[in-house]
Amino acid sequence: MSRSVRGEFEIITQIKERCQASPVVQLGIGDDCAILQLPPGELLLSTTDMLIESVHFRRDWTGLLSLGRKSAAVNLSDLAAMGATPRALFLALAIPADLIAEDIDLFFEGFLEVCHDSGAVLAGGDTSSSQAGLSICVTALGSAPATEVVRRSGAKPGDGLYVTGALGDSSLALQWLGEGRALPPELLNRHLEPTARVKAGRALARSGIATAMIDVSDGLLADLGHILKASLVGACIQVDRLPLSSALRATGDEDSRLFDRALTGGEDYELLFTATPESEGKIARIASENSLPITRIGTISMAAEEFVLEYNGNMYPLPLHRGYKHFSDGT
Ligand code: ADP
Ligand code: MG
Repeated sequence: MSRSVRGEFEIITQIKERCQASPVVQLGIGDDCAILQLPPGELLLSTTDMLIESVHFRRDWTGLLSLGRKSAAVNLSDLAAMGATPRALFLALAIPADLIAEDIDLFFEGFLEVCHDSGAVLAGGDTSSSQAGLSICVTALGSAPATEVVRRSGAKPGDGLYVTGALGDSSLALQWLGEGRALPPELLNRHLEPTARVKAGRALARSGIATAMIDVSDGLLADLGHILKASLVGACIQVDRLPLSSALRATGDEDSRLFDRALTGGEDYELLFTATPESEGKIARIASENSLPITRIGTISMAAEEFVLEYNGNMYPLPLHRGYKHFSDGT
């Protein structure tokens, strides 16, 4: 017990030294509460995500540097999905006895790197010992003017449906890790160290382009389902337009299997958003300014809560409640 108590104070002192200053965080680590002052007129946006050992990650598959980066990124991704500017992160850790000091250092190195790159600072948290694996709980605070916050509920029939980056890499990496197969590093990193699309999310919100937005954490169809439900609309997805990375294509799987993965694979942390047809040019500009591909993959329709998948010239209607049957199962 004495080890964990001494460890806790040492850890907090070391983290404090590595934290940056921010005009928003008037008082960070060191008192009973942090004190934050948002820019005038901005709303506070807040989100929490847990990463639990053996549930969300395995320590034999990920290094602690990657885990630190991912813990920050998955929370920043939720801020990005509503168009917020990241301001402060809070980090609650339960640390098992077999985690050595160097690993904790690596975790903080990764966490603080991604946190600072986003413009946020680590403003507080809690540290405990754990008898059952490493638990990481992050709360991310961001802010945005009220008129620039993007919800899931604003999609309208006729809007285009867009996604950033590429889909399916993370799910392939997870599967191959499970099978013990060697992976190209670019695919492995898409799972172990996803990038939150913070700048693109902010730009899409600030410009008023995104009418609805979500980050793809549970898989494209599942997360699009949330937009359709909240907006009371349907969508047609042109399956052969789904963006696949060259690394994913290079695995040699047949197209239908790759598209299945892009439709259902989780943890891509790309942004899925809707926009009126007039926004096409502005979206292309945001894509080039952020060096991030943005692909139109379909259109929002009136048919409430129904997907239609268009593939090889055929239409596959798919009511939300009926679930998805894989193309590669012979659909
Ligand atoms: P209290 O007993 O008042 O909760 P703690 O000793 O837990 O205080 O924490 C002292 C300070 O260190 C607080 O500012 C807290 O936010 C910060 N802190 C504790 N653990 C962490 C952590 N893992 N990451 C960042 N800040 C932390
Ligand atoms: Mg505490």
